[in-house]
Amino acid sequence: MDITTLTPLFNFDEMAGAAQNSNGLTGRDILSVAQFDREMLSYIFARGREMREMVQRVGGVDMLKGYVLACLFYEPSTRTSSSFIAAMERLGGSVIPITSGVKFSSVSKGETLADTVRTLEQYADAIVLRHPEIGAAQKAADYASVPVLNAGDGAGEHPTQALLDLFTIREELGRVDGLNVAMVGDLRYGRTVHSLTKLLLRYDVSLRFVSPEILRLPLNIMNKVIDASVDVRETHEVADVIENADVLYVTRVQKERFSDLAQYEGVKDHYVITPDLMEKAKNKMVVMHPLPRVGEIHYSVDNDPRAAYFRQVKNGMFIRMALLAAVLGKA
Ligand code: ASP
Repeated sequence: MDITTLTPLFNFDEMAGAAQNSNGLTGRDILSVAQFDREMLSYIFARGREMREMVQRVGGVDMLKGYVLACLFYEPSTRTSSSFIAAMERLGGSVIPITSGVKFSSVSKGETLADTVRTLEQYADAIVLRHPEIGAAQKAADYASVPVLNAGDGAGEHPTQALLDLFTIREELGRVDGLNVAMVGDLRYGRTVHSLTKLLLRYDVSLRFVSPEILRLPLNIMNKVIDASVDVRETHEVADVIENADVLYVTRVQKERFSDLAQYEGVKDHYVITPDLMEKAKNKMVVMHPLPRVGEIHYSVDNDPRAAYFRQVKNGMFIRMALLAAVLGKA
Protein backbone atom coordinates (compact mmCIF):
# COMPACT_ATOMS: atom_id res chain seq x y z
CA MET A 1 0.00 0.00 0.00
CA ASP A 2 1.22 3.47 -0.83
CA ILE A 3 1.50 5.27 2.50
CA THR A 4 1.04 8.69 0.90
CA THR A 5 -2.58 7.80 0.16
CA LEU A 6 -3.21 7.74 3.91
CA THR A 7 -2.32 11.29 4.78
CA PRO A 8 -5.57 13.09 4.00
CA LEU A 9 -7.70 10.57 5.88
CA PHE A 10 -5.79 10.79 9.11
CA ASN A 11 -4.90 14.39 9.53
CA PHE A 12 -5.65 14.22 13.22
CA ASP A 13 -4.07 17.59 13.99
CA GLU A 14 -6.58 19.25 11.73
CA MET A 15 -9.37 17.14 13.17
CA ALA A 16 -8.38 18.14 16.68
CA GLY A 17 -8.69 21.81 15.84
CA ALA A 18 -12.08 21.40 14.21
CA ALA A 19 -13.51 19.09 16.77
CA GLN A 20 -12.47 20.55 20.06
CA ASN A 21 -15.34 22.97 19.92
CA SER A 22 -17.90 20.58 18.54
CA ASN A 23 -17.68 17.40 20.57
CA GLY A 24 -18.18 18.92 24.00
CA LEU A 25 -16.43 15.92 25.52
CA THR A 26 -12.95 17.28 26.11
CA GLY A 27 -12.08 16.97 29.78
CA ARG A 28 -15.51 15.53 30.59
CA ASP A 29 -16.37 12.44 32.63
CA ILE A 30 -18.32 9.69 30.86
CA LEU A 31 -20.71 8.53 33.57
CA SER A 32 -24.06 7.88 31.93
CA VAL A 33 -25.62 7.69 28.49
CA ALA A 34 -27.78 10.62 29.57
CA GLN A 35 -24.93 12.91 28.48
CA PHE A 36 -25.17 11.89 24.82
CA ASP A 37 -27.57 13.53 22.41
CA ARG A 38 -27.92 12.40 18.81
CA GLU A 39 -25.45 14.95 17.52
CA MET A 40 -22.81 13.76 19.94
CA LEU A 41 -23.54 10.15 19.05
CA SER A 42 -23.08 10.88 15.34
CA TYR A 43 -19.83 12.60 16.17
CA ILE A 44 -18.49 9.63 18.18
CA PHE A 45 -19.62 7.17 15.51
CA ALA A 46 -17.91 9.17 12.77
CA ARG A 47 -14.68 9.20 14.81
CA GLY A 48 -15.16 5.47 15.49
CA ARG A 49 -15.31 4.78 11.76
CA GLU A 50 -12.13 6.76 11.24
CA MET A 51 -10.44 4.76 13.98
CA ARG A 52 -11.51 1.52 12.29
CA GLU A 53 -10.14 2.72 8.98
CA MET A 54 -6.90 3.79 10.60
CA VAL A 55 -6.43 0.48 12.46
CA GLN A 56 -7.15 -1.50 9.29
CA ARG A 57 -4.60 0.47 7.34
CA VAL A 58 -1.75 1.26 9.70
CA GLY A 59 -2.54 -0.40 13.03
CA GLY A 60 -1.83 2.60 15.22
CA VAL A 61 -0.86 6.28 15.45
CA ASP A 62 0.83 8.59 17.93
CA MET A 63 -2.19 10.73 18.70
CA LEU A 64 -2.14 10.07 22.45
CA LYS A 65 1.63 9.75 22.83
CA GLY A 66 2.59 10.92 26.30
CA TYR A 67 -0.89 10.31 27.73
CA VAL A 68 -1.52 7.72 30.43
CA LEU A 69 -4.80 5.96 31.21
CA ALA A 70 -5.44 4.24 34.55
CA CYS A 71 -7.73 1.19 34.29
CA LEU A 72 -9.14 0.48 37.74
CA PHE A 73 -11.35 -2.62 37.88
CA TYR A 74 -13.01 -3.77 41.10
CA GLU A 75 -14.98 -6.42 39.15
CA PRO A 76 -13.86 -8.96 36.53
CA SER A 77 -13.58 -7.87 32.92
CA THR A 78 -12.25 -9.24 29.65
CA ARG A 79 -13.55 -7.06 26.83
CA THR A 80 -13.97 -3.68 28.50
CA SER A 81 -10.52 -3.69 30.09
CA SER A 82 -8.71 -5.17 27.06
CA SER A 83 -10.42 -2.88 24.59
CA PHE A 84 -9.61 0.23 26.63
CA ILE A 85 -5.99 -0.91 26.85
CA ALA A 86 -5.83 -1.74 23.14
CA ALA A 87 -7.53 1.57 22.32
CA MET A 88 -5.00 3.56 24.33
CA GLU A 89 -2.05 1.66 22.89
CA ARG A 90 -3.21 1.94 19.29
CA LEU A 91 -3.38 5.69 19.81
CA GLY A 92 0.18 5.75 21.13
CA GLY A 93 -0.63 6.21 24.81
CA SER A 94 0.06 3.93 27.75
CA VAL A 95 -1.88 2.30 30.54
CA ILE A 96 -1.72 1.61 34.28
CA PRO A 97 -3.60 -1.69 34.33
CA ILE A 98 -5.21 -2.44 37.70
CA THR A 99 -7.39 -4.98 35.98
CA SER A 100 -6.36 -8.32 37.41
CA GLY A 101 -8.25 -7.55 40.56
CA VAL A 102 -7.87 -4.74 43.01
CA LYS A 103 -6.81 -7.45 45.45
CA PHE A 104 -3.30 -6.75 44.26
CA SER A 105 -3.60 -3.03 44.98
CA SER A 106 -3.92 -1.10 48.24
CA VAL A 107 -7.69 -1.54 48.00
CA SER A 108 -7.08 -4.90 49.69
CA LYS A 109 -5.49 -2.97 52.57
CA GLY A 110 -8.68 -1.00 53.02
CA GLU A 111 -7.97 2.09 50.92
CA THR A 112 -11.10 4.04 49.99
CA LEU A 113 -12.19 4.62 46.41
CA ALA A 114 -11.61 8.35 46.94
CA ASP A 115 -7.98 7.88 47.97
CA THR A 116 -7.29 5.36 45.22
CA VAL A 117 -8.69 7.74 42.61
CA ARG A 118 -6.81 10.73 44.06
CA THR A 119 -3.65 8.67 43.84
CA LEU A 120 -4.13 7.48 40.27
CA GLU A 121 -4.80 10.97 38.99
CA GLN A 122 -1.29 11.92 40.08
CA TYR A 123 -0.01 9.59 37.35
CA ALA A 124 -2.77 9.39 34.76
CA ASP A 125 -4.69 11.74 32.45
CA ALA A 126 -7.94 9.76 32.72
CA ILE A 127 -9.34 6.91 34.81
CA VAL A 128 -11.51 4.04 33.63
CA LEU A 129 -13.43 2.59 36.58
CA ARG A 130 -15.49 -0.57 37.03
CA HIS A 131 -17.04 -1.00 40.44
CA PRO A 132 -19.81 -3.15 41.98
CA GLU A 133 -21.74 -0.21 43.46
CA ILE A 134 -24.29 1.86 41.57
CA GLY A 135 -23.07 5.46 41.56
CA ALA A 136 -19.40 4.59 42.18
CA ALA A 137 -18.24 6.25 38.96
CA GLN A 138 -20.03 9.47 39.93
CA LYS A 139 -18.43 9.29 43.36
CA ALA A 140 -14.98 8.80 41.82
CA ALA A 141 -15.61 11.71 39.46
CA ASP A 142 -16.49 13.91 42.44
CA TYR A 143 -13.00 13.31 43.81
CA ALA A 144 -10.96 13.18 40.59
CA SER A 145 -9.83 16.18 38.63
CA VAL A 146 -9.09 14.06 35.56
CA PRO A 147 -11.93 12.52 33.48
CA VAL A 148 -13.50 9.34 34.88
CA LEU A 149 -15.01 6.87 32.41
CA ASN A 150 -17.66 4.56 33.86
CA ALA A 151 -16.87 1.00 32.77
CA GLY A 152 -19.83 -0.41 34.72
CA ASP A 153 -21.18 0.59 38.14
CA GLY A 154 -22.90 -2.46 39.58
CA ALA A 155 -26.37 -2.92 38.14
CA GLY A 156 -26.39 0.77 37.18
CA GLU A 157 -24.97 1.77 33.82
CA HIS A 158 -22.32 0.78 31.30
CA PRO A 159 -22.31 3.79 28.97
CA THR A 160 -19.33 2.92 26.79
CA GLN A 161 -20.85 -0.51 26.11
CA ALA A 162 -24.11 1.13 25.07
CA LEU A 163 -22.24 3.40 22.67
CA LEU A 164 -20.53 0.44 21.03
CA ASP A 165 -23.83 -1.48 20.98
CA LEU A 166 -25.62 1.36 19.25
CA PHE A 167 -22.69 1.79 16.85
CA THR A 168 -22.91 -1.92 16.02
CA ILE A 169 -26.64 -1.67 15.30
CA ARG A 170 -25.99 1.33 13.06
CA GLU A 171 -23.13 -0.34 11.20
CA GLU A 172 -24.89 -3.71 10.80
CA LEU A 173 -28.31 -2.44 9.74
CA GLY A 174 -27.50 1.00 8.35
CA ARG A 175 -29.94 2.87 10.60
CA VAL A 176 -31.47 2.96 14.06
CA ASP A 177 -34.78 4.75 13.42
CA GLY A 178 -37.59 2.38 12.55
CA LEU A 179 -35.97 -0.72 14.09
CA ASN A 180 -37.58 -3.27 16.36
CA VAL A 181 -35.13 -4.06 19.17
CA ALA A 182 -35.79 -7.03 21.45
CA MET A 183 -33.77 -7.39 24.65
CA VAL A 184 -33.68 -10.81 26.23
CA GLY A 185 -32.55 -12.16 29.59
CA ASP A 186 -31.59 -10.33 32.77
CA LEU A 187 -33.16 -6.94 32.23
CA ARG A 188 -33.23 -6.22 35.94
CA TYR A 189 -29.53 -6.40 36.75
CA GLY A 190 -28.07 -6.09 33.24
CA ARG A 191 -26.44 -2.66 33.21
CA THR A 192 -25.80 -2.87 29.47
CA VAL A 193 -29.55 -3.21 28.93
CA HIS A 194 -30.20 -0.18 31.14
CA SER A 195 -27.78 2.02 29.22
CA LEU A 196 -28.75 0.80 25.76
CA THR A 197 -32.47 1.22 26.48
CA LYS A 198 -31.97 4.83 27.56
CA LEU A 199 -29.85 5.54 24.50
CA LEU A 200 -32.39 3.99 22.13
CA LEU A 201 -35.05 6.36 23.47
CA ARG A 202 -33.30 9.07 21.44
CA TYR A 203 -34.53 7.24 18.32
CA ASP A 204 -37.82 6.19 16.79
CA VAL A 205 -37.68 2.50 17.77
CA SER A 206 -39.99 -0.30 18.93
CA LEU A 207 -38.77 -2.01 22.08
CA ARG A 208 -39.52 -5.56 23.20
CA PHE A 209 -38.42 -6.74 26.63
CA VAL A 210 -38.21 -10.50 27.18
CA SER A 211 -37.42 -11.78 30.68
CA PRO A 212 -38.55 -14.06 33.46
CA GLU A 213 -40.92 -12.26 35.82
CA ILE A 214 -38.26 -11.63 38.47
CA LEU A 215 -35.82 -10.15 35.95
CA ARG A 216 -38.07 -7.53 34.36
CA LEU A 217 -36.71 -4.10 33.48
CA PRO A 218 -36.56 -1.86 36.61
CA LEU A 219 -39.53 0.44 36.99
CA ASN A 220 -37.49 3.64 36.85
CA ILE A 221 -36.23 2.72 33.38
CA MET A 222 -39.60 1.43 32.21
CA ASN A 223 -41.07 4.78 33.24
CA LYS A 224 -38.58 6.54 30.98
CA VAL A 225 -39.59 4.23 28.14
CA ILE A 226 -43.26 5.02 28.73
CA ASP A 227 -42.56 8.77 28.97
CA ALA A 228 -40.78 8.61 25.61
CA SER A 229 -43.99 7.17 24.06
CA VAL A 230 -42.13 4.49 22.09
CA ASP A 231 -43.95 1.32 21.04
CA VAL A 232 -43.11 -1.13 23.86
CA ARG A 233 -44.17 -4.61 25.00
CA GLU A 234 -42.99 -6.99 27.68
CA THR A 235 -43.18 -10.78 27.45
CA HIS A 236 -41.65 -13.92 28.95
CA GLU A 237 -41.16 -15.67 25.60
CA VAL A 238 -38.59 -15.10 22.86
CA ALA A 239 -41.03 -16.81 20.47
CA ASP A 240 -43.30 -13.75 20.83
CA VAL A 241 -40.67 -11.36 19.45
CA ILE A 242 -38.33 -13.33 17.18
CA GLU A 243 -40.22 -12.88 13.91
CA ASN A 244 -40.32 -9.09 14.00
CA ALA A 245 -37.01 -8.34 15.68
CA ASP A 246 -34.36 -6.44 13.76
CA VAL A 247 -32.04 -6.70 16.75
CA LEU A 248 -32.07 -9.53 19.29
CA TYR A 249 -29.95 -8.29 22.19
CA VAL A 250 -29.29 -11.30 24.43
CA THR A 251 -27.85 -11.05 27.94
CA ARG A 252 -26.45 -13.26 30.69
CA VAL A 253 -28.27 -13.70 33.98
CA GLN A 254 -26.06 -11.68 36.34
CA LYS A 255 -25.30 -14.33 38.97
CA GLU A 256 -23.15 -11.97 41.04
CA ARG A 257 -26.12 -9.66 41.75
CA PHE A 258 -28.33 -12.34 43.36
CA SER A 259 -28.43 -12.56 47.13
CA ASP A 260 -30.38 -15.84 46.87
CA LEU A 261 -28.53 -18.31 44.64
CA ALA A 262 -31.53 -20.66 44.53
CA GLN A 263 -33.39 -17.87 42.76
CA TYR A 264 -30.54 -17.60 40.25
CA GLU A 265 -30.64 -21.35 39.62
CA GLY A 266 -34.33 -21.04 38.87
CA VAL A 267 -33.84 -18.55 36.01
CA LYS A 268 -30.31 -19.08 34.72
CA ASP A 269 -31.16 -21.38 31.80
CA HIS A 270 -34.39 -19.71 30.86
CA TYR A 271 -33.42 -18.69 27.31
CA VAL A 272 -31.18 -20.33 24.75
CA ILE A 273 -30.97 -18.96 21.22
CA THR A 274 -30.68 -21.93 18.86
CA PRO A 275 -30.48 -22.37 15.06
CA ASP A 276 -34.10 -23.59 15.15
CA LEU A 277 -35.21 -20.34 16.72
CA MET A 278 -33.09 -18.36 14.24
CA GLU A 279 -35.05 -19.94 11.39
CA LYS A 280 -38.04 -17.91 12.49
CA ALA A 281 -36.10 -14.64 12.46
CA LYS A 282 -35.80 -12.15 9.60
CA ASN A 283 -33.01 -12.68 7.08
CA LYS A 284 -31.70 -9.22 7.79
CA MET A 285 -31.47 -9.00 11.56
CA VAL A 286 -28.65 -9.18 14.08
CA VAL A 287 -28.06 -11.15 17.23
CA MET A 288 -25.99 -9.22 19.75
CA HIS A 289 -24.65 -9.97 23.24
CA PRO A 290 -22.41 -7.85 25.48
CA LEU A 291 -20.67 -11.11 26.50
CA PRO A 292 -19.64 -13.19 28.35
CA ARG A 293 -22.28 -15.74 27.36
CA VAL A 294 -22.94 -18.61 29.70
CA GLY A 295 -25.27 -20.69 27.55
CA GLU A 296 -27.79 -18.10 26.25
CA ILE A 297 -26.64 -18.41 22.64
CA HIS A 298 -25.86 -21.86 21.36
CA TYR A 299 -22.40 -22.13 19.76
CA SER A 300 -23.98 -23.42 16.56
CA VAL A 301 -25.49 -19.94 16.05
CA ASP A 302 -21.98 -18.46 15.72
CA ASN A 303 -21.70 -19.35 12.02
CA ASP A 304 -24.96 -17.62 11.19
CA PRO A 305 -24.05 -14.35 9.41
CA ARG A 306 -26.62 -12.61 11.62
CA ALA A 307 -24.55 -13.41 14.72
CA ALA A 308 -22.89 -10.04 15.30
CA TYR A 309 -21.46 -10.46 18.80
CA PHE A 310 -17.81 -10.78 17.85
CA ARG A 311 -18.04 -7.89 15.42
CA GLN A 312 -19.62 -6.02 18.34
CA VAL A 313 -16.55 -6.85 20.45
CA LYS A 314 -14.26 -5.32 17.83
CA ASN A 315 -16.38 -2.21 17.56
CA GLY A 316 -15.76 -1.71 21.27
CA MET A 317 -12.15 -0.90 20.59
CA PHE A 318 -12.95 1.64 17.85
CA ILE A 319 -15.57 3.41 19.95
CA ARG A 320 -13.28 3.52 22.99
CA MET A 321 -10.51 4.93 20.80
CA ALA A 322 -12.91 7.64 19.66
CA LEU A 323 -13.98 8.37 23.24
CA LEU A 324 -10.46 8.54 24.63
CA ALA A 325 -9.37 10.84 21.82
CA ALA A 326 -12.39 13.09 22.47
CA VAL A 327 -12.08 13.17 26.26
CA LEU A 328 -8.36 13.89 26.03
CA GLY A 329 -8.98 16.71 23.56
CA LYS A 330 -7.43 15.12 20.50
CA ALA A 331 -10.45 14.53 18.29
N1 ASP B 1 -19.71 -7.54 30.26
C1 ASP B 1 -20.99 -6.94 30.53
C2 ASP B 1 -20.93 -6.11 31.80
O1 ASP B 1 -19.89 -5.94 32.37
C3 ASP B 1 -22.10 -7.91 30.51
C4 ASP B 1 -22.05 -9.00 31.54
O2 ASP B 1 -21.18 -9.05 32.39
O3 ASP B 1 -22.96 -9.84 31.47
O4 ASP B 1 -21.95 -5.61 32.21
